[in-house]
Amino acid sequence: MNTHMPDCLFCKIIKREIPSTKIYEDRNIFVFLDINPVNIGHTLVVPKDHWENIYTTPTKILCEMMEIAKQLSIAIKTATKADGINIEMNNEKAAGQLVSHAHLHVVPRFGDDGFTHWHGKRPYNEGEMQEVADKIIRVF
Ligand code: 5GP
Ligand code: ZN
Repeated sequence: MNTHMPDCLFCKIIKREIPSTKIYEDRNIFVFLDINPVNIGHTLVVPKDHWENIYTTPTKILCEMMEIAKQLSIAIKTATKADGINIEMNNEKAAGQLVSHAHLHVVPRFGDDGFTHWHGKRPYNEGEMQEVADKIIRVF
């Protein structure tokens, strides 16, 4: 693990080389507003050490991120009068991760914000569901 990566945007924010609007920090975690919010109040919860994604971030740090995301969800909901909150983590390019430094999105949602849920592609074929479950269970 590298504590900081020289070319990483979030490492630069944590080191104050790039400004951000900070909400909270402690020994391991830095929390700031997303510059291009899905809705006003959209916040990022970021480990101070450079871990790329959920696979490599230590479980203890992920737990700390989630603890903060919980408290933050209540604060953001109260402050923005949101109707709901999404917690999201994109891992790898295929999943929409643009910044390769692990982070949780805490996104306030409003009944009339126009966003919809992902749509399911198709139901499973006969037997396919158990087949997929068995594949996952084998490596879990
Ligand atoms: P990802 O797609 O990697 O899950 O999300 C990266 C997030 O970082 C995006 O929502 C994007 O708006 C945010 N972001 C990108 N550059 C900056 C920046 O310079 N400052 C802040 N505060 N957020 C940023
Ligand atoms: Zn980084």
